[in-house]
Amino acid sequence: MTVDCVIVGSRVVLPRCTVRKNIVIDGGKVAELASGVPACDRRIDAEGLVSLPGVIDPHVHYGVYTPVDRAAETESRAAALGGVTTMMRMLRLGGSYRESLGEQLRASAASHHVDYAVHASVFDRRQAAEMEYCAGMGVGSFKLYMNLGSGEGRVYMDMPPGSSRLTEAAVEVGPDVVRDVVRTAAGLGRPVLVHAEDQGACHRGMLAAREGGLDGLKAWSDSRPPESEAKAISEVSELARRYGCAIYVVHVGSAAALAQIRAERARGTRIHVETCPHYLSLSHEKQEGYLAKVMPPVRSADDGARVWGALASGEVDTIGTDHVANRRGMKLGGSTVWDALAGFPGIGTSLPILLSEGVNRGRISLERLASLTSAAAARIFSLSPAKGSLDPGSDADVAVVDTRMERKVSSEALGGYSDYSVYEGRTLRGWPVKTLVRGSVVAEDFEVVGRPGHGRLVRPS
Ligand SMILES: [Zn+2]
Repeated sequence: MTVDCVIVGSRVVLPRCTVRKNIVIDGGKVAELASGVPACDRRIDAEGLVSLPGVIDPHVHYGVYTPVDRAAETESRAAALGGVTTMMRMLRLGGSYRESLGEQLRASAASHHVDYAVHASVFDRRQAAEMEYCAGMGVGSFKLYMNLGSGEGRVYMDMPPGSSRLTEAAVEVGPDVVRDVVRTAAGLGRPVLVHAEDQGACHRGMLAAREGGLDGLKAWSDSRPPESEAKAISEVSELARRYGCAIYVVHVGSAAALAQIRAERARGTRIHVETCPHYLSLSHEKQEGYLAKVMPPVRSADDGARVWGALASGEVDTIGTDHVANRRGMKLGGSTVWDALAGFPGIGTSLPILLSEGVNRGRISLERLASLTSAAAARIFSLSPAKGSLDPGSDADVAVVDTRMERKVSSEALGGYSDYSVYEGRTLRGWPVKTLVRGSVVAEDFEVVGRPGHGRLVRPS
């Protein structure tokens, strides 16, 4: 019998150890980890390289600045080049999901190079009442924006398929919506993703900073203080305990938020924690210009050190990129930090940042990296056992990395819609050199070699 493919000679990263084995792939699955090389159609020589379970990026925005049929193609190219084998879309729509969800899913069904899953944002009580419908359509989890708490909240929604017009909407995610979502998700057994910033505190802070003529990334950070994150975490945790819901706090990047999460966990709250590469590698002291503007803001270098500590200790579960597929001209807008849009691309640089700044600097092990970038997200969002590991029987989603390769970040090489990177010109050590999705090579040596439409919607198990 001839198998489809064997990855020969790499160190394979498992949950508790790393082994020198050959990965035998057949029918899109890992058939076995073997010492020999069975007869195969394709042999991938990976001597000196490391095989990680394919990266699951649980936090990706696409379909906002270009329609999703196109965005899925461009951003999944960036994903493939970055070692990402499953991207989780943060779907954002106004109105009724019954009217829009089906066409959104159909519009991108033939566009992805890598597998994908969907979280649905919930902005009002009608959408909260449609959560069960969404779950039936394959949506695995729901997102709450506590930073859009009242009055002032404006947000860009995803474009309707076929349109290329920015779709801005006013939304008000008040306490009744927050309660409905947490209660309903608990009933459905699904986690709720929480953007935890207190709207009132941020609104007041930004007004005062602008009136005071302040500018720059530190002013941006001070105007949306870490305490506003802690306040929102405390509020949603109380509801989570009351209804028995698991919450997943997205983009945690401050010592204050981490401290609040520790306190809420001690009270028995089921909290999962995501951080993003930018909180580990950027700070408002070091970054110039406004490209690194994001919500919540990048904090001080001290905060960054605390987040690294939380990564190593296990307090942080996952790495999401909060990737936003926008362009520099649109991003910067005017001449101050207040005119710039929040968010930037990051799906293609996540693994290189973590390898370079984390593994190669001795801050985290390869096993810990695999948990942060794949296994934990698969478990939290019920994508396992197919996703999140290289155990026999799993989907053969693999990121083959060269931990010693040095390369400069260049936005042109990253493959997405964006024409900039906050890491532009930075030399990173450790890059993905091959990405396999269900046994098919979708990217190798910094070229996309797969085809759009290979990626499938992953429904929670
Ligand atoms: Zn986000």
